[in-house]
Formats: sequence, structure tokens, C-alpha cells
Amino acid sequence: MSQIRLLYYSRALQDMSLGDISNILQTARSNNQSKDICGMLCYESRWFLQVLEGEREVVNELFLEIADDPRHDDVVIISYDYVDTREFQSWQMGYAGSAGNFSELLQEFGLSKFSPDEMSPAQGFEFLKMMSAHQNENA
Ligand code: FAD
Repeated sequence: MSQIRLLYYSRALQDMSLGDISNILQTARSNNQSKDICGMLCYESRWFLQVLEGEREVVNELFLEIADDPRHDDVVIISYDYVDTREFQSWQMGYAGSAGNFSELLQEFGLSKFSPDEMSPAQGFEFLKMMSAHQNENA
């Protein structure tokens, strides 16, 4: 069985409220559990950055569905890697965003603003890993 890790970023079509994000997370957590997919989602200033880990075909199929979601656009894959071990196993879909200590963590990471389009694949991955260590389960 081939496991992959897919990172992408996208632009929300409108400002997302915490309720909007909660809706996405609720669906994601329930669907991902049944698909044995895990990952992490960040949202800030209309940017989404997400990592998905799981079996290749299952992640590919979910990604196509997510990419087609009318709540966002300009979906760009940052990296797609075959992996032996998962880094985000603890979360059906973890979350970090403006509601938590996102700004402080951004600064800790050496960034003044959240611009996933300027991140290298390694930076995107490290950023999501750091966010997952501080993630807010309650969003
Ligand atoms: P439903 O949730 O009932 O959705 C049915 C259809 O309605 C879908 O086409 C959906 O895109 C659309 N829809 C639902 N709510 C809205 C809304 N508020 N506005 C406009 N259209 C809407 N899903 C996962 O399973 N796992 C994930 O990790 C995941 N991550 C996501 C990340 C982002 C940034 C976004 C925007 C969406 C994400 N989703 C995720 C949701 C995904 O795009 C699909 O909506 C979802 O997988 C469909 O779930 P469902 O079959 O239970 O149908």
C-alpha cells in the first residue's frame, strides 16, 4: 500500500467565519476518519494551507473533491510525496488559524504574514508540523 503526503494552498472566495471553518472541520473529521486520512488545515486572511496523509488513491480522490469545493479557488499543490510514516497521525484534521495564537507562531517561524504561495515545500511542511504541535482541537 502506497502512502502519500499532499500539501496544497488555496484562496477562500470570501472571508471565512469560525462557523464556516467549523463546518469544514466537522465534515473533514468525520469523512477522514472513515477514509483513514489525517492532516492539518490552516486558515488565515483568506489563505488555506492543508496537508493530507493517507493511502494514495484515497487521498487523490479526496483532493479532487476538495479542489472542486466552491468555497475556495486557485488550488495549488505544493508537494506530493510517498512516505513511510505519517506526521499528522494524531489528527483526522487538525486546525490552526486566526482564532488561536497563530500570529505568535508565525513570528516564531520567522514570518510576518501568512503567505503559503511564498513557502517552499519544506517550509510548508515544517510550518504545518509546528502548527500541529500547537493545534486547536476546539475550532
Ligand atoms: P457535504 O458536506 O454534504 O457537501 C456536499 C456538497 O456541497 C459538496 O460538493 C460540498 O463541496 C458542497 N458544500 C458543502 N458545504 C458548503 C458550503 N457551506 N458552501 C458551498 N458548498 C458547500 N472534506 C473532507 O472530507 N476532508 C477534508 O480534509 C476536507 N478539507 C477541506 C478543506 C477545505 C479548505 C475546504 C474548502 C473543504 C474541505 N473539505 C474536506 C470539504 C470537501 O471539499 C467536501 O465538501 C466534502 O468532502 C464533501 O463531504 P460530504 O460528501 O459529506 O458532503
